[in-house]
Amino acid sequence: MSTAWKKMRQGHEITLIESSPRFGGVLQSEQRNGYLLDYGANTLSLRNQETSDILEDMGVLKYALDANPKANKRFIVRNQKLVSLPLNFSSFLSSSFLSPLGKLRLLLEPFIPRGNHDGMETVASFISRRLGKEALDYCGNPFISGIYASDPETLNLANAFPALSRMEKQYRSLLVGMFKEKSSKKKPPKTRLLSFPEGMNQLAYHIQKNLPQDQLYTNESVTSVTNIGQGWKVKSHNQAGNISEFLCDEVISTIPVDQISNIIWNNIKGQEHLSNLMEVTHFPLSMVFFGIGKEEISHNLDGFGFLVPEKEKLSILGTLFSSTLFENRAPHGKVLLTTFVGGERMPKLALAEDEQIYKAVEKDLSKLIGMKKKPSFKHIKRWKQSIPLPDQKMSLRIKASKELSFLNNGLYFSGSALSGVSLPNCIDADIA
Ligand SMILES: Cc1cc2nc3c(=O)[nH]c(=O)nc-3n(C[C@H](O)[C@H](O)[C@H](O)COP(=O)(O)OP(=O)(O)OC[C@H]3O[C@@H](n4cnc5c(N)ncnc54)[C@H](O)[C@@H]3O)c2cc1C
Repeated sequence: MSTAWKKMRQGHEITLIESSPRFGGVLQSEQRNGYLLDYGANTLSLRNQETSDILEDMGVLKYALDANPKANKRFIVRNQKLVSLPLNFSSFLSSSFLSPLGKLRLLLEPFIPRGNHDGMETVASFISRRLGKEALDYCGNPFISGIYASDPETLNLANAFPALSRMEKQYRSLLVGMFKEKSSKKKPPKTRLLSFPEGMNQLAYHIQKNLPQDQLYTNESVTSVTNIGQGWKVKSHNQAGNISEFLCDEVISTIPVDQISNIIWNNIKGQEHLSNLMEVTHFPLSMVFFGIGKEEISHNLDGFGFLVPEKEKLSILGTLFSSTLFENRAPHGKVLLTTFVGGERMPKLALAEDEQIYKAVEKDLSKLIGMKKKPSFKHIKRWKQSIPLPDQKMSLRIKASKELSFLNNGLYFSGSALSGVSLPNCIDADIA
């Protein structure tokens, strides 16, 4: 949708074709029993001026809801207890998130030589090489499962964290690089953690409002894309089986790459690149929502939530303190907790029976945050294929997409599997 909006701003006429009954894809919010549940993204982390400017220009930012300042505080689990992550150097020294030896190893980072991996290094290798094994186990591992529902051993550094890869090349040390960039650049805007009063699907709704309404089609599945020489013919069908045709100068596909094979691509050059474009890894993930009285939890839930390192051998990946993060997520006197289960670490658990999942979550939450009784509200949202991972296959996809665009005038591919999964990555993504 943001690509459509940018094209419109450049003066193009746009047509948006969506197979489901609503725009927004995985941005889905729902009210249930007085709780506001976000099934896809829960937060939009606004760090770049560019993303902020685009959202401002789209007229979306004025509707956004800032997170509670308490959400700055984040926890990890260490020795089966929540430990808050440091926010500055003095709390780094006092925090028990790493052992004294682990902290010392981390502080040696500026003395570690540059690596030489030609874009092939995994995130796990990079973190343990530069920051030490303990930082990998207690920071890298939980952080990667929190963002990607994956393991640092699977992800490619250059695809997952291009800024870190660049920084090592440019400055050798991350700490030196961060210091130099902080002092040389003009002050970046303060990071804002955002959602919307009625949930994240309002992001899509507010973008949609500013697109030409008569050119937005829902319940229309694209079935074929044909190169007709001077342009493109896109065919779609609705649930009643009626076929529509759209003639256009350019086609931009932002559908999930593994669904590209559902479309017949006629007369396109370099068909052989389509198979690499569809190469993607994702793991199943279940999001478990618990609503419960405040007094039934011993922890005061004063933060964003917590992440669980694999070393701790628990069933859950982490939990968001959703009703601390944003207002109006739970009825008065109640709290809403959103727990992530499965991912690469425990794919089978993500697909288990509801009762088995609830039991596992209840057991971990009673141990970690002192949940004293069963929640009065429970709900599960399952994603069979959750996040398209920035592993080595992402390089293949990007190369294939570039080849296809080079060979076929006016054909482009975008979407989270190519741009990177975070919402700012998707919003900022540029096609030629
Ligand atoms: C569980 C989960 C939690 C997340 N949490 C966060 C978070 O907290 N913060 C964050 O920044 N990001 C988060 N993300 C990532 C982010 O939400 C996604 O990367 C992003 O929303 C994906 O957008 P997209 O447009 O690329 O794909 P999608 O949202 O998948 O949209 C693709 C669209 O294509 C349509 N489509 C498919 N086939 C056809 C066809 N043949 N014809 C027409 N239309 C078709 C689909 O119906 C769908 O609407 C999360 C993702 C998930 C899954």
